[in-house]
Amino acid sequence: MPTPQIAIIGAGPCGLTLARLLECKGIKDYIVYERDDGPDSSRAGGSLDIHPETGQHALREAGLFDKFKDHARYADTAFALGDKNGNKIFQMGEGRDAPEIDRAELCKILLDAVPADKIKWGYNLKEVTFGDEGRSQLRFGDGTTLSGVRLVIGTDGAWSKVRRVITEASPQFSGKTYLEGRIRRDSPFYETMAKEFGPGMYLTVGNKKITITQRQGDGSYRIYFGLQTPEHFSRTLDLQNMEATRQLLLSSKYYGDWAARHKDVIRHATDFWAWPLYTLSKEDLSWKSVSGATLCGDAAHVTIPNGEGVNLAMTDALELATSIGQHGIENLDEAVKQYEKGMFPRGVESIAQGEVMSEAMFVEGPEMFLQRFGPVMGLTN
Ligand SMILES: Cc1cc2nc3c(=O)[nH]c(=O)nc-3n(C[C@H](O)[C@H](O)[C@H](O)COP(=O)(O)OP(=O)(O)OC[C@H]3O[C@@H](n4cnc5c(N)ncnc54)[C@H](O)[C@@H]3O)c2cc1C
Repeated sequence: MPTPQIAIIGAGPCGLTLARLLECKGIKDYIVYERDDGPDSSRAGGSLDIHPETGQHALREAGLFDKFKDHARYADTAFALGDKNGNKIFQMGEGRDAPEIDRAELCKILLDAVPADKIKWGYNLKEVTFGDEGRSQLRFGDGTTLSGVRLVIGTDGAWSKVRRVITEASPQFSGKTYLEGRIRRDSPFYETMAKEFGPGMYLTVGNKKITITQRQGDGSYRIYFGLQTPEHFSRTLDLQNMEATRQLLLSSKYYGDWAARHKDVIRHATDFWAWPLYTLSKEDLSWKSVSGATLCGDAAHVTIPNGEGVNLAMTDALELATSIGQHGIENLDEAVKQYEKGMFPRGVESIAQGEVMSEAMFVEGPEMFLQRFGPVMGLTN
């Protein structure tokens, strides 16, 4: 396999934004290695709100903002807060400049803007090592190896394999698990769901649990049932058994005393999936630059979902591409040092925000959530 100067590991939003931006800057000697077998093989992921100064800025710099706008959903920026008794406390944020787009659509826009031969599908990185004179070696799941890449960029998400050559830090379980369910367009419950929960995102807080209901690009709904759980809770579940999963959620331990409005959603939810939530710590973001490797996006600073993750990942991609552009391919180590100097405080802030948001949400009710998180949302009373 020919050796590129730059290997980007992972074709998520971060890796693809980086690839596109390197193309735009005329830096063409890179390859993206992705473990999935093709663009459609990954679990698609939810709807993401793209913010003006971060995600949108990166898309503008990548020359893709107009394409993004074709898919961006301004009607889905609404945010509603409710309680477990079925009351809606308020709704706000309609039309704000943070339009939603499905992860799959965002990735498609980026993929279409990167030459197809620059993405290698089915390459599951197992290990990076540095041998004599700092020469890198990448080992993939099928036994393929690649030697002499000058810069390995880990955009391989929470469980990054590239991270191991840079820092001993490893994400820790947050004590929370999101169980995801869906109400699809063809569900007999769909019309009721749309009427009850409407556009955008609907957060319900009660008894130290949450539900987050999120309208997707095709009009269907994704629901996250946010629970405080032991680390390996999801391994005890058979999520293929939808009825058993519904019964578990409806039990007195979880949503048994919530209003019919919420329990009806559980009774009709399908396609269950578990997201145990992990986070790096703020202290983890302090490594000394390593020659020949760096991290971007969740690989660098995964945290509890805080509404910024993808925006930050795209900002990292922009900052790293810009730094490589400025320093040139001959000075990659300098480019990495400059990029990491800016990335650390961004990552620390995001991790802090993830902690604050998570503590604010898993409370007795929406009043307490507002006390803790209202000021962050710009709500004074
Ligand atoms: C339940 C949940 C809800 C979320 N909601 C939001 C939200 O509303 N808004 C928001 O901004 N963020 C949200 N996030 C966070 C957001 O999804 C991430 O911050 C974002 O996807 C990070 O992008 P990334 O490209 O860095 O990593 P990822 O999206 O994780 O992409 C990593 C890529 O690397 C590939 N890969 C992994 N390992 C390897 C390997 N060994 N070899 C090769 N390829 C590999 C993966 O297949 C994937 O394609 C949420 C996260 C979760 C879990």
